Amino acid sequence: MRNRRAALAGIAAAASLALTLTACGQSGSGGSKEKTTDAKGATIGIAMPTKSSERWISDGKNVVKDLQAKGYKTKLVYGEDDPATQVSQIENLITQGVKGLIIAAIDNKSLDSVLQEAADANIPVISYDRLILGTKNVDYYASFDNEKVGRLQGQYIVDRLGLGKGKKGPFNIELFAGSNDDNNTKYFFGGAMSVLQPYIDKKQLVVKSGQTKLNQVVTLRWDGATAQKRMEDILTGSYKSGRVDAVLSPYDGISIGVLSALKSDGYGSGSQPLPVITGQDAEIASVKSIIAGEQTQTVYKDLRKLAEVAATMVDDSLKGKKPQVNDTKTYDNGTKVVPAYLLQPVSVDKSNYQQVLVDGGYYTESELK
Ligand code: BGC
Repeated sequence: MRNRRAALAGIAAAASLALTLTACGQSGSGGSKEKTTDAKGATIGIAMPTKSSERWISDGKNVVKDLQAKGYKTKLVYGEDDPATQVSQIENLITQGVKGLIIAAIDNKSLDSVLQEAADANIPVISYDRLILGTKNVDYYASFDNEKVGRLQGQYIVDRLGLGKGKKGPFNIELFAGSNDDNNTKYFFGGAMSVLQPYIDKKQLVVKSGQTKLNQVVTLRWDGATAQKRMEDILTGSYKSGRVDAVLSPYDGISIGVLSALKSDGYGSGSQPLPVITGQDAEIASVKSIIAGEQTQTVYKDLRKLAEVAATMVDDSLKGKKPQVNDTKTYDNGTKVVPAYLLQPVSVDKSNYQQVLVDGGYYTESELK
């Protein structure tokens, strides 16, 4: 970023008149940006983490659509949840001459050197949904209020169990968190525990497995099968007597895995109702599960808006305009506080999915059949 002005000046000299330079000094990274007349038609690289989850497929499509509507070409790659693959994909994008990068990291700490290459090539970098850590070479962060995602999940459990509304419990709860290499994980878990911990302290919520620390409850790469196995082990080890009343799940794919373990153990049939179980992303399988009365809740994040924010951030950066941000304090990546635009998550269950997801145009009625 620091070198952008100098490099662009060089290009402008060589291409005489090809670029219009406007020093504006508005960059969120502290450098200055130049207005270029050739931003339109430039190619933007988009690096997404995996196709194994529906949300990232939508993210890819949405970002491509929004950038194309702004006149850009796009190159979209998926890293299949392998950090090394993602690093080499980003290297390739840089070599291919992309003018901007939008990256949803797989391992938030693995991108330092490749982002140095991006900075050396004066490519603005937008950290998409997940904050990239440990490098100054990330310009903006487009995401949701991730702490609130967790609070919505925790509060949903409290409300559904009737805690705070006269019910004393004790209720048994088990806790799941996301991947430990994803910076969002600690925000989701922290938000949820800020609501749940007081009830755990009062013994109105009991974690029979004893697994309450983040490093005991993480799920590498958010993998549903990994979560299913852990839930099976917990049921065998800690629930010879008693039942699970609630499960904090941070993501729909994990919720589906946890539900499989519970159903194999007899939950959801006869006299053994399923526990309250949260989720995130409003993926179709989970919304169907909610409608069927299995998963209880999910946290909906409007990915259309996220894509629009990220695409606008790149567009503004390339045109020398300061991208709009609404948070300049929360997201410290260890090297700098990354200016962020945070969108609002919404809790969805059987009572409001129709209004939020169908009436809101996110899914059609028939997609949820
Ligand atoms: C995203 C979630 C998603 C999870 C697993 C997180 O970084 O914020 O929306 O559920 O990754 O893909």
